[in-house]
Amino acid sequence: MTVVTIHIYPYVTPQCMILVTGGAGYIGSHCAIRLIEEGKDIVIFDSLELGHKETVDTLRSVSKGSKVEFVQGDLKNPSDIRSVFEKYDIDAVVHFAAYSQVAESMKDPQKYYYNNVYGTLNLLSAMKDARVGKIVFSSTAATYGEPEYVPIDEVHPQMPINPYGNSKLMVERIMDDYSRAYGLRSVRLRYFNVVGADGRIGEWHVPETHLVPNVLKSVLSPGGVFSMFGTDYDTRDGTCVRDYIDVRDLIDAHILALSYLDKGGETDYFNLGTNDGSTVREVFSECEAVVGSKIQVNECARRPGDPAVLIADNQKAKSVLGWEPKHTLKESVETAWSWEQKLN
Ligand code: UDP
Repeated sequence: MTVVTIHIYPYVTPQCMILVTGGAGYIGSHCAIRLIEEGKDIVIFDSLELGHKETVDTLRSVSKGSKVEFVQGDLKNPSDIRSVFEKYDIDAVVHFAAYSQVAESMKDPQKYYYNNVYGTLNLLSAMKDARVGKIVFSSTAATYGEPEYVPIDEVHPQMPINPYGNSKLMVERIMDDYSRAYGLRSVRLRYFNVVGADGRIGEWHVPETHLVPNVLKSVLSPGGVFSMFGTDYDTRDGTCVRDYIDVRDLIDAHILALSYLDKGGETDYFNLGTNDGSTVREVFSECEAVVGSKIQVNECARRPGDPAVLIADNQKAKSVLGWEPKHTLKESVETAWSWEQKLN
């Protein structure tokens, strides 16, 4: 018996635009700037609740003739996102817009399910009706939960331990069903710890919770002391091990994922990490080396919900997408430091 797969949606629609949801945020803006530099016409959709208008202005200033449209809207309002597909000829979507703080998700799960799941359903529904059939989605290592083994490959069980991870896993499952039923193909990219900056844009969260910017902010704030969460883990120096991936390498994978979908690639998912881990102390030392001075540190209790070790097995992204992360942790910290000084 011959099995024929019929795709409802066209693979490539030349001259169309790419929609970047959350394009005014940290990772979304790095994707947007790359697409602009590649001469693509893009629409940035962002509520500006967490993203920044200044980032959109920077993105616009980079364009050498390609269209950079900005729509301020909220995925929780179906009409906001539907109107984007009515107004613009969208070929593919790169979907970043989401809440992403684990601790906040524990305190207010509804906020996470409502925004990350319901908001994405509105996006997918609008895509389906507009017959837009390709999406690259920001998923996360948090969908795996407490690791059963490291490095974590893509077949590792997905058992999230917080609402943030649950919300992202729910979207992954919804996307599987949309792919099967409607031919809306997706690439889900499971990020490990994203660091670094392009320089013109960078990591800008308010409040900031992540390791590298928090170490660097402590240098720039008078009397600042960095809080190191947990020094009694069963790791080589007692602090948590994470797999830090440079944002520019991460974006390479998004560009490859878009081209994979353009060529007719099937719905799939990939880990994005380096296959290697650094402890919090090692990252802290790298920051001291880059800054060129001693940084004040306060060794604190563990932060609830932090697994001891998270490292990605990245073989699948390498072999299927042809992805190769290039930047070292030192380079990531250097770019983060330049950006942080600019932001200060
Ligand atoms: N961390 C820390 N101090 C901070 C922020 C983070 O010691 O101010 C630790 C955190 O406990 C974890 C690692 O740094 O072990 C990475 O945390 P981050 O929030 O950057 O990323 P996550 O692993 O939570 O995605």
